[in-house]
Amino acid sequence: MSTPRRRITMATTWLDGCSGCHMSLLDIDERLVALARDVDIVYSPLVDAKQLPDSVDVGLIEGSVSTEEDLHKARLFRQHCRFLISLGDCAVCGNVPGMRNFFPLDAVLDRAYRENVQRNPQVPTEGVPRLLELVQPVHGVVDVDLFVPGCPPPADAIWHVLSELIAGRTPDPLQVTRFGK
Ligand code: SF4
Repeated sequence: MSTPRRRITMATTWLDGCSGCHMSLLDIDERLVALARDVDIVYSPLVDAKQLPDSVDVGLIEGSVSTEEDLHKARLFRQHCRFLISLGDCAVCGNVPGMRNFFPLDAVLDRAYRENVQRNPQVPTEGVPRLLELVQPVHGVVDVDLFVPGCPPPADAIWHVLSELIAGRTPDPLQVTRFGK
């Protein structure tokens, strides 16, 4: 009798990004059916479950760490995910969100909330997470097990990474994607 395939659990989140990396994950198209056979997505903006389980096999983080909330999510994922993937250039190197690091935080807030606003210009203090002084890549705040560059990483690259993990192998993303691709 053949051994049943082991299903793995996966959680995904986005920090400071554009959600394009998640869209690229959805772009694996009909292979989503195969993914659903082998993977339980237990927490993600793409599914209803909004409580990160205590123990998850694979965690995918899109986006850079720009706010206190991002920092909390990154730490939570590191704590609960056995294998943590930094997905996309924003997560891997800061990319677009990291461009604000060239300016003092006060200047960034002034530009966004005072200089470019005509009605009631003021920096919000409620209802939005506080910005960190500097944007960091995910590995700037937690250990990361695998880096998948690209803006976004192509769907084929994401599929390669996930199917290798499902097969119990460690993928080599640089065979299938690169920065800015
Ligand atoms: S890496 Fe590119 S596609 Fe992914 S979140 Fe950043 S800007 Fe969007």
